[in-house]
Amino acid sequence: MKPYIGCDLGGTNLRAALVDVDTGQVLHQASTLTLAREGHEAVMTRIANQILQLINDSEFSKTEIGGVGIGVPGVLDIERGVVLFLPNLPGTWPDVPLAETIESLTGLPVQLLNDVRSITYGEWRFGAGRGVDTLAVFAIGTGIGGGLIINGQLHLGIGGTGGELGHTVIDYNGPRCGCGNYGCLEAYASGPAIASQGMKAVAQGLTTKIGELCGYDLNRITPELIAQAAESGDEIAADIYEKAGFYLGIAASSICASIGPRRIILSGGVAQAGSLLLVPMERTMRARVQVMPVDQVQVLTGQLGNNAGIVGVALWAASHAGPRSKG
Ligand SMILES: [Zn+2]
Repeated sequence: MKPYIGCDLGGTNLRAALVDVDTGQVLHQASTLTLAREGHEAVMTRIANQILQLINDSEFSKTEIGGVGIGVPGVLDIERGVVLFLPNLPGTWPDVPLAETIESLTGLPVQLLNDVRSITYGEWRFGAGRGVDTLAVFAIGTGIGGGLIINGQLHLGIGGTGGELGHTVIDYNGPRCGCGNYGCLEAYASGPAIASQGMKAVAQGLTTKIGELCGYDLNRITPELIAQAAESGDEIAADIYEKAGFYLGIAASSICASIGPRRIILSGGVAQAGSLLLVPMERTMRARVQVMPVDQVQVLTGQLGNNAGIVGVALWAASHAGPRSKG
């Protein structure tokens, strides 16, 4: 099959990769700044130029490329190829015809997919999700994204909006989430939620290595720094991850009950904490779920790392070539 290009529209970086869709291998890749403050027209021009440059730098001509997939961090109508709402980009991109614009600027067919559904598809085809028909992905970073494979298909729902697992409600009386609802998982276990627990501990003057590691500068506290403290035996840091893992386990319990997944995969930067999150998450699921065989659900971290999304969306475009609109 012809190679496809996978792009990732990130708040900070635009990434693109030429992908061998038969093997999932990245053949070439490029990264540039998004400069999102310049507005969506400028960013779309930059995406198109990056695609054309990537082809130029490869041994392929444009006619040898099958098409383009773009992973987008927000709400889309993938049938129309339109962006509806990007919560973390300036201007929020309401009703921006991203697919059509990139098609006219590059002359290549374009498919859109939410960024974490792209990760889900990539991990399923060539990563930690290989070989199972039903799985769930939580991608933990600045927010918590999600994706579902159900009965051997990426679950899409209305216009591709299904699978927002980070907005599973943990406590209906809980804190306001960035999405407008209350008590979502994202408000408890995202990177910023974990970092803020570390800041609180240091600000309260608790004895914790987090303080030393950040040089008592609260702005330097990150989930990675707290994980480092936890790994060196700091109990307060370990407890912060224990709680985040517990909340993930509560959300995962609901997913187990609703879709009966064979695997649950943690992806995204915060998932690098590994067993600090996985152990309490699994313990919580196994203690609470009885309506399905929860001991058969495997909980793993992703295998494709930072490339899961760009590889996944290229594979998605390759398997969904053809007219976008299904009426
Ligand atoms: Zn939410």
